[in-house]
Amino acid sequence: MHSIATINQRQIENHAARGRALNDAATRLLQRVLGCWQHDLSRPFSHRGRTYRVCVKCGMSRDFNPDAWKTHGPSYRLPANMSYYNVMSTERKAA
Ligand SMILES: [Zn+2]
Repeated sequence: MHSIATINQRQIENHAARGRALNDAATRLLQRVLGCWQHDLSRPFSHRGRTYRVCVKCGMSRDFNPDAWKTHGPSYRLPANMSYYNVMSTERKAA
């Protein structure tokens, strides 16, 4: 049989775990809505005439000027690469 102190300790631990889970969920929601607080940008990529850097935490992109070697402009979401999905769907139809 468990003592009252053991039961109380478990309740305190459960309450703390629920509080951490709620805090993590709230943080993820804010990051999804507002973007992350501080982007951790990758090295620059050039693809289809655009040069940009991608945040490794949230996936948002920022334009990069290779001549001035500077990141500029606001953060934005890249559209899904539809050509990749079109190739995959035609391969599946052929199979
Ligand atoms: Zn980010």
